[in-house]
Amino acid sequence: MPELPEVEHVARSLHKQIVGAHIAAVTYLDWERMIETPSVDQFRKLLQGRTIQNIGRRAKWLLITLDEGWTLTFHLRMSGYITIQDTIAPPDKYVHLVIEFTDGRQLFFHDIRKFGRTRLLDPVGLRELDQAHGIEPLEDDFTVDALSSLLRNRQARLKPLLLDQTVIAGIGNIYADEALWHAQIHPLRTSSDLNDDEVARLHNSIRKALQTGLSNGGSTLRNYRNSYGEQGTNQDHFHVYARITHPCPRCGHSIERITVGQRGTHICAHCQTLNPQNERSATT
Ligand SMILES: [Zn+2]
Repeated sequence: MPELPEVEHVARSLHKQIVGAHIAAVTYLDWERMIETPSVDQFRKLLQGRTIQNIGRRAKWLLITLDEGWTLTFHLRMSGYITIQDTIAPPDKYVHLVIEFTDGRQLFFHDIRKFGRTRLLDPVGLRELDQAHGIEPLEDDFTVDALSSLLRNRQARLKPLLLDQTVIAGIGNIYADEALWHAQIHPLRTSSDLNDDEVARLHNSIRKALQTGLSNGGSTLRNYRNSYGEQGTNQDHFHVYARITHPCPRCGHSIERITVGQRGTHICAHCQTLNPQNERSATT
């Protein structure tokens, strides 16, 4: 599932390709449920003639800024990705939306699982989307103090808290597991119990995991592509995620998979103990 680094790469690649392009029309739509708002008719009508002014990201949402105050947003969910077709190409069965530009190019929304969604938002809708999400972990205001107050004001297990988009935006299963491994903190620890050193380690580790993902072009487990159709390579650099039985790169113990809040979670039980203040009881 695309997370912050992957959606950021989609935004960057789309920015190079389609800023300044003019939308001719929505020329294909075979899955109307992907349009959350407005109505399908309004979606088609309002997009016609719009110019793409900018491309950005908020949490795991892709934001395509149009003229007249509209923003076209996409959430890729499990398997969605977007490509720009330079030539006239017919959509295959996994393409559910095609937007044609006046220069003849086409935007394809591919989605094997059909969980991806789009919204065409006015400024009020865009503000609501923004306010529904928490702090951006790569922005300057995500400081150690900011993370500390987010953790200490909650009595939550760490991993579900990291995945909660209303608290910190953009982190999913991959980067939560990688960040907790870097920080040497167990995913079932209670957020308010972390000491100052652990909070600082977690802050540094969240950024490190996301930055590594960004510098490797994102992670492609199955479907993720940027808008040029290129896969990421970060999956070749995972330390724990999807590496069950492989040795921990830090200590050599086998990586284990546990379930936390119904999510498969990858840890090194030797580096990430549940009770670090009392190692003896944790290992007996
Ligand atoms: Zn280890």
